[in-house]
Amino acid sequence: MKTKTDVLVVGCGPAGATAARYLASEGFKVVIAERNSAVAQDIRCAEGLDMPTIKDVVGEIPENTISCRIDRIIIDYKGERVRLNAPGHGVILNRVLFDQHLSYLAMRAGAELILGCCITDLERKDDLWRAKGTKNGESLDIEAKVVIGADGPESVVGKMAGIDTSVLPKDIYSCCEVRADVSGMDENGALLLALDEELFTGGYAWSFPKENHAANIGLGIRGDAGGKRAFERLAEWLSRDFKGAGVVSEIAGVVPVKKMEKISAPGVFLVGDAARLADPLSGGGIGPALTSARLASEIASKLLKKDKLEDSNIYDKAWWHGEGRQFEQRLFLRNAYIANDKKLLPPVFEWAQKNLDGKNIVEFSADEMLLGLIKSVPVLFKMASSIVPTLMKMVFK
Ligand SMILES: Cc1cc2nc3c(=O)[nH]c(=O)nc-3n(C[C@H](O)[C@H](O)[C@H](O)COP(=O)(O)OP(=O)(O)OC[C@H]3O[C@@H](n4cnc5c(N)ncnc54)[C@H](O)[C@@H]3O)c2cc1C
Repeated sequence: MKTKTDVLVVGCGPAGATAARYLASEGFKVVIAERNSAVAQDIRCAEGLDMPTIKDVVGEIPENTISCRIDRIIIDYKGERVRLNAPGHGVILNRVLFDQHLSYLAMRAGAELILGCCITDLERKDDLWRAKGTKNGESLDIEAKVVIGADGPESVVGKMAGIDTSVLPKDIYSCCEVRADVSGMDENGALLLALDEELFTGGYAWSFPKENHAANIGLGIRGDAGGKRAFERLAEWLSRDFKGAGVVSEIAGVVPVKKMEKISAPGVFLVGDAARLADPLSGGGIGPALTSARLASEIASKLLKKDKLEDSNIYDKAWWHGEGRQFEQRLFLRNAYIANDKKLLPPVFEWAQKNLDGKNIVEFSADEMLLGLIKSVPVLFKMASSIVPTLMKMVFK
């Protein structure tokens, strides 16, 4: 079967569905190819997302896409705790219904979704991209002016378009998670983040509350942590802090985190995990998936209208100077954590106890927190020379 379209979106996760919705609402013919036979078939996620991003990119969302609203955050460092208020700031989604909702919005805007269609080949000819895929064992050829690579952490689109998307083990969080009944152990809907250099090497663990006293309990460690595997570490944490929690499901996955040299090629735009844009510190990737998809679509739309797709690298500049700006700051903190291992957390936690305990997180900007930490934690102060341009922009903005 052969199809011609203005835009081919590869992958129908949050990034793909959002890009498809934006471009279809601009009047372009949009085809989404999703390899699975259902949207949201293979979700690997703790489902946390902040409300401002949802409101900004998606708008109002149906109540059933929200599993739990978060008003409080607890940060635990080996039994000591910092408590933050975060009224109305975040939610734990029902990712299946949320991703389906994003797909409905894309289709309502006019995008066509082809399920069970895995894209396996991409070639540029006469200023057009020719994608090959399979659907029910039959081959499918799709010709498109623009390709949006929204195919997640295992992305193939970037590589096929000549973009270096390689990641080393140190550039990923290796994650695992269980869904468990924590009744009697949960803290009235508080979100728990736990730090411990030995148990959660180069990362952290979480317990995100769901409805009916259930929770997503998991951890992400750096991919080259060595020693015990992620699931062994999680089992240890569960038996230490959630004894008796009834586990009903287990998942494992990775979150790639890397500042890639390029996230575009002429007529190709990588978004979300395919562009390795998750927050380097938290591993949260849904927000960057939504915002990068919106930006890439806006730029693709303008370039399509002007027939100037050779200028697609405008997207790279716009991302790293705009919404992606915080990536660099947070990558700095992640690198400092990894490099200093046991030396960093004690002073950082002490700073958090003094400056954050009992406060409302909305009162603090990310810039303020980073500057405060650099001033107070000598290890960070020494390493700050590596991000002088970023710091200058923060101080003199
Ligand atoms: C254990 C764990 C917990 C996490 N918790 C959180 C959290 O609490 N909050 C948060 O913000 N982030 C979290 N993340 C990260 C988050 O899940 C991802 O960053 C997010 O899903 C990225 O969205 P995406 O649209 O870029 O990619 P994906 O959601 O991965 O979607 C990619 C889509 O592309 C499809 N696809 C792939 N290849 C092809 C192909 N060749 N052809 C056609 N289709 C293809 C896939 O089937 C999939 O549907 C977590 C990740 C893990 C592993």
